[in-house]
Amino acid sequence: MTEITCKLLVIGAGPGGYVCAIRAGQLGLDTVIVESTKLGGSCLNIGCIPSKAMIHVAEEFEKAAHAAAGKTPFGLTASAPKLDLKQAVAWKDGIVQRLNNGVAALLRKSKVKIVHGRARFRDGKTVIVETETGPRTIKAETIVIATGSAPVELPFLPFGGNVISSTGALALTEVPKRLAVVGGGYIGLELGTAFAKLGAKVTVVEAQASILPLYDAELTAPVAKHLAALGVEVLLGAKARGMTPKGNALLIETAGGEEKRIEADKVLVTVGRAPVTNGLGLEELVLDMDGRFIRIGERCETSMRGIHAIGDVTGEPMLAHRAMAQGEMVAEIAAGLPRAWDKRCIPAVCFTDPEIVSVGLSPEEAGKAGLEIKTGKFPFAANGRAMTRHGEQGFVRIVAQAQTQLVLGIQAVGQGVSELSSTFGLAIEMGATLEDIAGTIHAHPTLGEAAQEAALMALGHAIHI
Ligand code: FAD
Ligand code: NAD
Repeated sequence: MTEITCKLLVIGAGPGGYVCAIRAGQLGLDTVIVESTKLGGSCLNIGCIPSKAMIHVAEEFEKAAHAAAGKTPFGLTASAPKLDLKQAVAWKDGIVQRLNNGVAALLRKSKVKIVHGRARFRDGKTVIVETETGPRTIKAETIVIATGSAPVELPFLPFGGNVISSTGALALTEVPKRLAVVGGGYIGLELGTAFAKLGAKVTVVEAQASILPLYDAELTAPVAKHLAALGVEVLLGAKARGMTPKGNALLIETAGGEEKRIEADKVLVTVGRAPVTNGLGLEELVLDMDGRFIRIGERCETSMRGIHAIGDVTGEPMLAHRAMAQGEMVAEIAAGLPRAWDKRCIPAVCFTDPEIVSVGLSPEEAGKAGLEIKTGKFPFAANGRAMTRHGEQGFVRIVAQAQTQLVLGIQAVGQGVSELSSTFGLAIEMGATLEDIAGTIHAHPTLGEAAQEAALMALGHAIHI
């Protein structure tokens, strides 16, 4: 059995793991990364990137369909669009392939050694990797667990046949006529919306009393309204119970306790993601856990010296950019730099239609934290750029500390607002006050002007409303 010794070993090459390995390589650490499937992890192969590619296809299809139906207010007409979903999936797979190659090239550039295979701990300093050519032993001073997450499977709706996970949904080569979605969270609504635009009759079954329970009602209301306009039926407070014996309908219990049958060609189950720790040999270690997730401190350290954990395997928020930021930090810690988690916020973006962005504290969260706040909310209906894009729904909302004017949070819902998340995050990270945002010249006409106006409104002197 060949043995490798290194300074840093990263298990899992998702956004957390590969960023960690690249940064460690840049810092001159002798680094090895182990990946059992494809470089890029869930995000690049079956998550963020492929889902956004398919959402784009659906948006383009919808635009063409609107033109064909004479529904544009500016007189654009077209003939009815046709989509070859196989070609769309091949296009999406091509993007994924290019990014896979890109990650491999970046790792090589940083002189990171890539080992393909499944890693299993033998002890706190040693991992055995099952590779195609047999087991390899890797000994490392520091080990980073970045094994990510996988879809939660409901025991009464196991994946297989017509019951699919997000991975299955992103590989469909035909649009299902009727799609039932169990779980009205991020994935269910992003993909449910896309399939509705592509012509599927979509029904969403959500156990809670609202869709996207992570966001407040003000932010989700425009999304709920647009889902209704798309013909998506949303059943709240409803629980999936299983499939009919023929596998052609989903059985649910409605909020009122009645049994209902939802005819469906495919049932997409998106009820959250669970950490991937099976077969990792955690029983050989003494790690404190948070339920099924690995417990970490502010340096992503676990309860065992020399073992860090980053990304989805450490729990919510399960977002690629959080995993990347943790990965970068841990690499710098391994190189002896003085680092700890000092971020003020982790932006959250939901790529529904309209999109939702939340950065920092919402008014409710600030209130719960006992903070005295002032807020400003500026509607896109009064924003020239939104009007010229025919996307007047939604708003930007700003939350600031009443006495100091320090911006605590910025949220938005509207078409294209995902691209505003970075400036919102920057403002909070830099400790901006309302005056800072109000006093920054925002280019005209842009959606970003709504943030400036929201700040002005919180200060009591908005101009355009
Ligand atoms: P992962 O990306 O899951 O990577 C873990 C890697 O570890 C995998 O490649 C796995 O094969 C490997 N691995 C596991 N066990 C072993 C082992 N024993 N040995 C070797 N290798 C192993 N997040 C966003 O921020 N924005 C989005 O728009 C977004 N969209 C999403 C859409 C979908 C459909 C899904 C499913 C997820 C989405 N996410 C999104 C979430 C995002 O994908 C995750 O937060 C992110 O991938 C987590 O990164 P990670 O590095 O922790 O783990
Ligand atoms: P989620 O936690 O966003 O939503 C799951 C939903 O399923 C919740 O609303 C929950 O109430 C509901 N639910 C749970 N059990 C149910 C049941 N038995 N019947 C009906 N409803 C039920 O989870 P997800 O959509 O699977 O996404 C997983 C993770 O992936 C998210 O936590 C998120 O961090 C990440 N993600 C992020 C993005 C993004 O950043 N844009 C996109 C997709 C996924």
